[in-house]
Amino acid sequence: MDKTIGIFGGGQLGRMMAQAALPLNIQCTFFEASPDCPAATLGQVFASKSENSLQDFIHSADVFSLEFENTPLADVDVLIKHKDLHPPRQALAIAQNRLLEKGLFDELAIPVAPYKAVNSLESLQAAVAELGLPIVLKTATGGYDGKGQFVLRSADQIEQAWAELGPAGSLIAESFVTFSREVSIIAVRGQNGEVKTWPLAENHHHNGILSHSIVPAPNSADLQPAAQDYITRLLNHLNYVGVLTLELFVTDKGLYANEMAPRVHNSGHWSIEGAVCSQFENHIRAVAGLPLGSTEVVRPTVMVNIIGQHPKTEDVLALNGAHLHLYNKTEREGRKIGHITLMPNDAAELTDLCRQLAKILPNPLALSADMSL
Ligand code: AMP
Repeated sequence: MDKTIGIFGGGQLGRMMAQAALPLNIQCTFFEASPDCPAATLGQVFASKSENSLQDFIHSADVFSLEFENTPLADVDVLIKHKDLHPPRQALAIAQNRLLEKGLFDELAIPVAPYKAVNSLESLQAAVAELGLPIVLKTATGGYDGKGQFVLRSADQIEQAWAELGPAGSLIAESFVTFSREVSIIAVRGQNGEVKTWPLAENHHHNGILSHSIVPAPNSADLQPAAQDYITRLLNHLNYVGVLTLELFVTDKGLYANEMAPRVHNSGHWSIEGAVCSQFENHIRAVAGLPLGSTEVVRPTVMVNIIGQHPKTEDVLALNGAHLHLYNKTEREGRKIGHITLMPNDAAELTDLCRQLAKILPNPLALSADMSL
């Protein structure tokens, strides 16, 4: 092997990074609590809960990255005294705190919904008075997939919202954005500062969890330049190396940034088959200091998450052109355990594939009927 990359986290994102690294003679190691995590079959796992294992992990690799945005900064601080981490610590620290994140978006003139910091019942009342209703109240740290959120629609819910989220620490109140759809942009920045961007993905959620992404997002040609501009500002400002994701709302006033993820992202899984170079390979290339690959689309692609229960492998593989990615995870309600990539020739074939897929997925609700290219 030419190089070893140590990755904080050993979930499916780490697994797919390691899969992309192997053909380049790059080995991955992982720092992760669970020894039988999805990445375990691809590289050594250092148990993040055991004493001294951080030191062993630091010795195990030449350069480091992460697949988990809540990677403890305390661990990162130990690491960066000895070895390089891509993306930079600052990107991680900002992405771990919604207030810092919104502050950075403001600083870089990336549009966001009006927001206020909330740290008491009185400041929540003041935020409601200033922003108006509805608002989305979120914990500043620790939330994901819509957890740690309360949508406040009337003033008589203020005390209930504070009782539910107040104990979680500092909060952010955001104006509720009326959006037509949710999209994400993913880009990669190399060690020489080169930036490459994939096309916008249109993301559909079910119960707060991504159910499927369509790429390129239909009718998004006029949105792509602004999204690309926003993510490039972030990448350059942070002197970022690796893949960054920016989630955005499409509104009648243009794009509003919701949040960033300093890592490869579920809405970029389509790129394994749908792009010349996937988000995983380009992330590995950037972290290893190699030239970046083309982010061009090979074919319009739909990525469907497998949530909770596995379909029959043979049923999925019988679908024309479908690719199946299983993460070696056990079934549990609401858990992402795999994904399917569909690469239809046209809208008619997409409709047909979705109809067939809805029949074979144990959790067909994950797939809405409104897919179009
Ligand atoms: P987040 O954890 O910030 O990604 O939020 C989870 C989901 O909640 C988003 O994907 C949106 O569907 C919704 N959401 C979050 N913030 C807002 C907002 N300010 N206005 C409307 N919907 C929101």
